[in-house]
Amino acid sequence: MEDTKLHKVIDGKNIFYDLKLDIIFEEFVDICDNDRTNVTSPRDLCIELTNSCNFLCKNCFSQKKATFLSLNKTIEYIKYYESKVIRMCLTGGEPLLNPEFRNIVGYLNKISNMGKVINTNGFYLDDTLCNLLKKNGWTVAVSLHGKSETHNEYVGFDSYDRIIKSLTLLRKYSINTHIYTVIHNDFEENDILHLIELKKDFNISDLRLIKIRENGLYQNINNNNLTQIPENFAASIFYKTKKSNTIFISAEQEIRLSN
Ligand code: SF4
Repeated sequence: MEDTKLHKVIDGKNIFYDLKLDIIFEEFVDICDNDRTNVTSPRDLCIELTNSCNFLCKNCFSQKKATFLSLNKTIEYIKYYESKVIRMCLTGGEPLLNPEFRNIVGYLNKISNMGKVINTNGFYLDDTLCNLLKKNGWTVAVSLHGKSETHNEYVGFDSYDRIIKSLTLLRKYSINTHIYTVIHNDFEENDILHLIELKKDFNISDLRLIKIRENGLYQNINNNNLTQIPENFAASIFYKTKKSNTIFISAEQEIRLSN
């Protein structure tokens, strides 16, 4: 059977990473599948390659400046943290907008003892990039926020069909794929049923629901449509319950722990 777990000893502790589910866990720490990090210290690194984005999500908390982390700076951070973490993630803004994105992926493809994740809105995925990602242990986490109308309304323009094309590509190249969904105010039970269908159709290994962030642009964070949903569909969805405790490097090179 294919081994889908990485193991690394960091600071004398046994740390594991589930490549398929994108979960880090530590020996003797209780595992909660709903949380990506089950560790006593930060064991993953998240690099914001840019804070620029082509979407206009209603609760976006990105600064939306056209700041891009260079290839050289990114490599510097990766080299510094490589022995201290078991997973790293490229994020944004929209990370694919970084002009050096493909070179950064090419550099990371040479590193095998680390889980590698891209958080993307899925708009710019293509065959060339999927070729770079396949067989190199990448997980691609695509943001999709419900049915076509719900998603398009939330992100500010018609992009649903393009995201579905990207999911088709990711399936074609057998790339481990997750869907990230923000539980925004217009999100309803039908949206979750739709996402559960997509999860089956596109071999999505994790559908992750994210509570709306109070520091985003969205004004009203009370979604009364959904009080029962997480419980009803608990077998099919993940629902983050605690802080991820991740080392986060912003495009402006501010280093901090993320929520
Ligand atoms: S895709 Fe992400 S960065 Fe872009 S607008 Fe939406 S939340 Fe913000």
